[in-house]
Amino acid sequence: MPDRPASDGARPPRVLILGGGFAGIGAARSLKDAPVEVVLVDKHNYHTFQPLLYQVATDLLETGAVGHALRDLFHDQPNVAVHQAGVTAIDLEKREVQFSEIGPISYDYLVLALGATVNFFGAEGANEHSFPMYTLADAVRLKEHVLERWEATDRDPALAEDGALNVVVVGGGPTGVESVGALAELYRSNFSSDYPGLPQEKAQLVLVEASPALFGMFKQDIRDYTERTLEKLGVDVMLGEIVASVAPTRVTLKSGKVLNAHTLVWGAGLQAAPIVESLGLELQRGNRVPVEPDLSLKEHPEVFAVGDIAWITDAKTNEVLPQLGSVALQAGECAGENIARRVAGKAATPFEYEDKGTMATIGRGAAVVQFRRGRTMKGKAASLAWGAVHLALLSTGEDRAKAVVNWTWAGFSHERPARITVRTDKVEQERSTV
Ligand SMILES: Cc1cc2nc3c(=O)[nH]c(=O)nc-3n(C[C@H](O)[C@H](O)[C@H](O)COP(=O)(O)OP(=O)(O)OC[C@H]3O[C@@H](n4cnc5c(N)ncnc54)[C@H](O)[C@@H]3O)c2cc1C
Repeated sequence: MPDRPASDGARPPRVLILGGGFAGIGAARSLKDAPVEVVLVDKHNYHTFQPLLYQVATDLLETGAVGHALRDLFHDQPNVAVHQAGVTAIDLEKREVQFSEIGPISYDYLVLALGATVNFFGAEGANEHSFPMYTLADAVRLKEHVLERWEATDRDPALAEDGALNVVVVGGGPTGVESVGALAELYRSNFSSDYPGLPQEKAQLVLVEASPALFGMFKQDIRDYTERTLEKLGVDVMLGEIVASVAPTRVTLKSGKVLNAHTLVWGAGLQAAPIVESLGLELQRGNRVPVEPDLSLKEHPEVFAVGDIAWITDAKTNEVLPQLGSVALQAGECAGENIARRVAGKAATPFEYEDKGTMATIGRGAAVVQFRRGRTMKGKAASLAWGAVHLALLSTGEDRAKAVVNWTWAGFSHERPARITVRTDKVEQERSTV
């Protein structure tokens, strides 16, 4: 555990990286050959591949294909130490960070890569009763809840009338569309065979979006294709509707409509990790931290903010970059390179994002891609492009192999291998009843 002060000139400078997501990992990796001590701290001991969370939630991928041990990623990088601890306070003046489980750590350079959390936009009951889709625990919780509702309805079919099998998904962006599309395939391809005795027509999937269109960031042809595809998958799309409140079995919309559903998936909004509010900085929309072209903070050139937590303006286009895995990874790498340059006495360089296209998948063989200059791609070709880009983002070759095996198998067989629930909290109870 590093408890000594940061560099006094006799030791290598210490780079403290907060967060082991795409941005934090990108920063740590690009410091591999730099003469620095890297300390990476995350509240989890694994890196989460968020773009595939919905595949865990819908039983296509095992958790191990989407969460990867952080320590494993740095076996070949002796200048990195990894610790599992939650950040509780950051003192930019003192150059020191406090944690809940370990003592304070001082730094010469700090990389803020803590990502973002769900924003419920004040919807009453959403925090208590909805299922967000931002962490691996969220995905597992949703998967287990949906399986539990189908098993409960199998035991008591009257529950179907009350909406036990219905799911309302909030948010017409990639998270919401990908989640509802994957749920539709799980329902229509797998649960219909798993539960032949249950009335499948009573299992409704509804996508609620506040604006008048799905996929606001995409061109019209992609929006039309998405609506048509979801319709074919049996998803009821409700546009221009806002969720007012959520109860365990009911969702009330601002228009007054009440939807019977025991499951509400929240995929509608993000806000930067809450700790940024304590930094005394002027924050941008979604509490994002504004950065200079080299990704450092204006008042603190030794501090860099990257990934979902940051408000990054692209040096090439002058546009604010979206909260995407590829932006986070590239920005993290750039921050690491800039720290290495500073340590070597060179000037930092501005971040330039290499845009490989914005993409989302709606269902099997149904994806959409929009390239930077506006060209679009839909259907199977877009699915292949989506698969290639996401495989490249997965942390290790082993993760890629697992994902390829599961995707290929699911494509041929329509099977979802992870359709089981293992409850460890009930072990004692089960033991006592056998
Ligand atoms: C469901 C979903 C689907 C997505 N699909 C795509 C997609 O298809 N393509 C794409 O490019 N992007 C996608 N994204 C966006 C992409 O995943 C994010 O932009 C990316 O993960 C941001 O990386 P990051 O490193 O900034 O943050 P994160 O990946 O969120 O990492 C932040 C890390 O900080 C840690 N942390 C947070 N708070 C604390 C604390 N207090 N103490 C210690 N550690 C802490 C967390 O545990 C986490 O490991 C998706 C996101 C979601 C949620």
